[in-house]
Amino acid sequence: MKFIKCKQCNDGKYVIRSSEYSNFAGCSNYPKCKSTITIAEYIKKVLEKEGVNIYKWKKQCPKCKEGTNVISYFLNYDLEKYDNAFEMVKNIGIGDVPFIDRILIEKYKNIKLIRSKTINEEYVANVCEHCGCLQGHNYVVDDPHEIYEELIHEKKMEKYLFDNISLEGIFIPYKELNII
Ligand SMILES: [Zn+2]
Ligand SMILES: [Zn+2]
Repeated sequence: MKFIKCKQCNDGKYVIRSSEYSNFAGCSNYPKCKSTITIAEYIKKVLEKEGVNIYKWKKQCPKCKEGTNVISYFLNYDLEKYDNAFEMVKNIGIGDVPFIDRILIEKYKNIKLIRSKTINEEYVANVCEHCGCLQGHNYVVDDPHEIYEELIHEKKMEKYLFDNISLEGIFIPYKELNII
């Protein structure tokens, strides 16, 4: 298990806990050490250390029938390596964390900001590499069934890992990381 070191004592590490009011991360040496940080701060520390893992797999475009790559991050999956509490979190992928989505739009040509006429809102999604067709509304997040087995049951996502985005020197907005 990976861990985030306590900032107050020498040998403590933060463990996700919940109180009547909220979830937080507290030092494993409690009650000797009472250091706590928020969940958002915990996730920020993980992201600063690890960057964001980007997973890629192939699906068949519903329009042109060609094989196209779809891309997403799965923060919940990577956070589980730090604390089992993150197993309860729903999939956190493309479309869920705006500052990461913005980096993806800049970096990958098949990630686009789409304007929906029905809801009059913009959202981020994968488009087909060949014909530009949208690959479903937040497709990879809501229904990543092509890789669902590996993601949820087998925990074998490594074969889909294709990039890692460093967040060094990038502003990380806490409120976007309030995910549990
Ligand atoms: Zn401590
Ligand atoms: Zn296509």
